[in-house]
Amino acid sequence: MSQDIEHVKCLIIGSGPAGYTAAIYASRADLKPVMYTGLLAGGQLTQTTDVENYPGYPEGIMGPEMMENFRKQAERLGTDIRFGYVSSVDFSSLPHKVVVDEHKTITADTVIISTGASAKWLGLESEQKYSGFGVSACATCDGFFFKGEDVAIVGAGDTAAEEATYLAKLCRKVTMIVRRNEFRASKAMMHRVLNTPNIEILYNTETKEIVGDGQSVTGVTVVNNVTNEETTLKVQGFFVAIGHHPNTEIFRDWIHMDETGYIKTTPGSTTTNVEGVFCCGDAQDHIYRQAVTAAGSGCMAAIDAERYLAAKEHVVTA
Ligand code: NDP
Repeated sequence: MSQDIEHVKCLIIGSGPAGYTAAIYASRADLKPVMYTGLLAGGQLTQTTDVENYPGYPEGIMGPEMMENFRKQAERLGTDIRFGYVSSVDFSSLPHKVVVDEHKTITADTVIISTGASAKWLGLESEQKYSGFGVSACATCDGFFFKGEDVAIVGAGDTAAEEATYLAKLCRKVTMIVRRNEFRASKAMMHRVLNTPNIEILYNTETKEIVGDGQSVTGVTVVNNVTNEETTLKVQGFFVAIGHHPNTEIFRDWIHMDETGYIKTTPGSTTTNVEGVFCCGDAQDHIYRQAVTAAGSGCMAAIDAERYLAAKEHVVTA
């Protein structure tokens, strides 16, 4: 059992923009990082199509290709990238203990959590079929592709309200599909929605099916859950804004989180309540959730880890 324990200076958990950027910086700081990719290597961006808002790609780039570039860069600089998922952690003492794929134990001087978040989906087959072809879970990322067109958005929380007003600036008309007869969003957000003339709200309405021509979305069939009346709206884009869940369950016993599971970091840094454990990307950010902000916080996490180790070394050798 004990010979299966490997020790690393810096363990990075998760392989989205945050994790890879942390890997790039940690490699260059000679922390010899080991990364476990998780089951969806490359993260959420591998499930998107065009990315036009990441600086440095004047023509845009496909999400999967972009993440492949991130991976190659981290690998070239020396990150040991391994496919596998972290099944449990023990942060009760130093070095931290991490179990991979339920059998391999790794001890680590520093751990960078970059496990991201996953968008919640309605669970319709047609939603998956047209994902990236008219169906999106990120208006900031994909709204631009529907400039001047009609779109629908499902959800009634702050995210849906914020994204609907964002879309309303780009699109001809936005239809909000709200399953109850009221919003969950804050009064201020709702006020913005209600005062935007090109947003129409359908209350007591649920999504039955996303309609398409085989290539892309052409409409959405909704049903009023009071009258049972069914309607097909003609839309070119369908946005799902029913919440995200951060992929942080395995850290729950050790790391401070908010009530929805987002990891709490010290403002202006990536430090958590546990010494030597840092968090970056969507696992600690429910507000911005962009590839570029995730990458920025990944850079911060590697710098924080490097400074933490340097300070410890200084104390030991001084
Ligand atoms: P929320 O969990 O707050 O809201 C989710 C919404 O989606 C609810 O209206 C819910 O309906 C609806 N919904 C859930 N499942 C379905 C379904 N299957 N079909 C139809 N509708 C569904 O998530 P958000 O992402 O909006 O917000 C998450 C957190 O982030 C909140 O605390 C929010 O306040 C915060 N936030 C803050 C912002 C800001 O301050 N600028 C911006 C964005 C988010 P129902 O109400 O019926 O349950």
